[in-house]
Amino acid sequence: MVESTPFDDLGLAVSSDEPLDRHTWLSVGGVARYFCEPVDEVALSKLVVRCHDVNIQLRVLGGGSNVLVPRAGFSGMVVRLSSPSFSAIEISQTSIKAGAGAKLVHVVSAAVQAGLSGIETLVGIPGTIGGSLIGNAGGQAGDIGERVSEVTLMNTRGTIDTRGRSDLAFQYRQSNLEDSIVLGCRLELDQENNIVLTKRMQKQWIVERSRQPSGTRTVGMMFKDPHGTSAESLIEQAGARDMYVGKASISGAHANYVVAGSQCSSDDIRSLLDEVRLVVRERLGIDLEPQLEVW
Ligand SMILES: Cc1cc2nc3c(=O)[nH]c(=O)nc-3n(C[C@H](O)[C@H](O)[C@H](O)COP(=O)(O)OP(=O)(O)OC[C@H]3O[C@@H](n4cnc5c(N)ncnc54)[C@H](O)[C@@H]3O)c2cc1C
Repeated sequence: MVESTPFDDLGLAVSSDEPLDRHTWLSVGGVARYFCEPVDEVALSKLVVRCHDVNIQLRVLGGGSNVLVPRAGFSGMVVRLSSPSFSAIEISQTSIKAGAGAKLVHVVSAAVQAGLSGIETLVGIPGTIGGSLIGNAGGQAGDIGERVSEVTLMNTRGTIDTRGRSDLAFQYRQSNLEDSIVLGCRLELDQENNIVLTKRMQKQWIVERSRQPSGTRTVGMMFKDPHGTSAESLIEQAGARDMYVGKASISGAHANYVVAGSQCSSDDIRSLLDEVRLVVRERLGIDLEPQLEVW
């Protein structure tokens, strides 16, 4: 017998108890009580309004590269903006309009191909435009927020709104978008020769690849870099780079990445993060701020 849900009358494909390990980079974690991949903004709006009305917490999952889902799962609604209507990439002169579900790497490639510079240094960062805006993804050479001229959002009443530059605030790995659903953005870029640009992007890609754990997708970036130093160097200085808990260990390629081995549980990862944080605090007196968001 199929269980009834508060969404049955909406005509949307809502599933129950969806395993979230299928949708996250770390491939661990429990189920989402409700799960939906709406086909368009109208469907998303219906879902958002219903969740609000019946008091069900709603979260958006992008590429799942910055989320750790606990073994107990998530008791609300998880939405993925995976349908084509949320992933369009349109270029007009020096601006790019990208849907929240578009992969960041696709947007970077489209920009470079069109001879537009400003985001090519983001090439190694996994995930979607939505996730990159929420956490202002970036690296030493800059972050996405520097190039955003407007963001389209949906609020908890299902209403769509566009925020211009003056209403947007991006800081190191954070934004003022966290209470809304990001539907897309516009980026303002500069014109540049696309051969020069392609070479720069390829160089960046090689650097990123050499610094990221390879051969596995089950990795996560553990901590934000404190001002003036890197989490990687602090973990090494504290002598924590060989730590592990259960099947969760620290990457040999980069000490700020956790690697989930086979049969790893999200509890192993959570405990490893806590233990590394404690060791760095005790030995160096610095409290590392988690990068991975624990649901
Ligand atoms: C190998 C690896 C390398 C990485 N390198 C970097 C790096 O160099 N720089 C860096 O900044 N980060 C890096 N990260 C972290 C991560 O990739 C980024 O934070 C990325 O931008 C997250 O995007 P996502 O789509 O995967 O978001 P998710 O992990 O799916 O979600 C992250 C947060 O954003 C929210 N969210 C996602 N989409 C939406 C939306 N449309 N509307 C509202 N909320 C939304 C989620 O609810 C969650 O709170 C790395 C991660 C890995 C695994």
